[in-house]
Amino acid sequence: MKTVAVYPGSFDPPTYGHLDIIGRGSHVFSKVIVAVAFNIRKQTMFTPEERVGMLRTLTGPMGNVEVDAFDGLLADYAVAKGANVVLRGLRAVSDFEFEFQMAHVNRKLAPKLDTVIMMTGEKHIYISSSIVKEVARLRGKIDDMVPELVRDRVVAKIREQE
Ligand code: ADP
Repeated sequence: MKTVAVYPGSFDPPTYGHLDIIGRGSHVFSKVIVAVAFNIRKQTMFTPEERVGMLRTLTGPMGNVEVDAFDGLLADYAVAKGANVVLRGLRAVSDFEFEFQMAHVNRKLAPKLDTVIMMTGEKHIYISSSIVKEVARLRGKIDDMVPELVRDRVVAKIREQE
């Protein structure tokens, strides 16, 4: 059976934590669709197009990964894409409650859609997009958290904003 997973998130910006989940997901599922959430209410550093562009470059070498943007209900989007799995990553217990609730909501909305949660690689436990932005704003090194391409874009964005 073909198992298509949708991996939704803000990816503002994409980190090594995200790439770890995408890479591992690509070994488990027939296809992984990385779905960048378009949320006009959420203040983001990068536009959805910029986030999609970075993710496309970074996941290019993985053959079965597609990058897309979506707005509206994830359950509707996933069903429209023919996906049967929602892939999410879990860093700490603090992520759990939200993921647990979302998994139940999505199952209610689309009963055939199952959520699969992957534990983060221990090297990536502390990495989040907000930490990356915060450290970079304070002129700290983010080289261990994001690929070079992302680091350069984050640094350029911060210079633009100042
Ligand atoms: P959202 O705003 O939907 O939480 P994120 O871009 O922050 O979007 O995260 C997308 C997904 O990636 C979430 O499931 C999140 O738990 C997971 N994730 C984020 N950072 C890491 C990491 N360092 N290790 C593993 N999973 C992660």
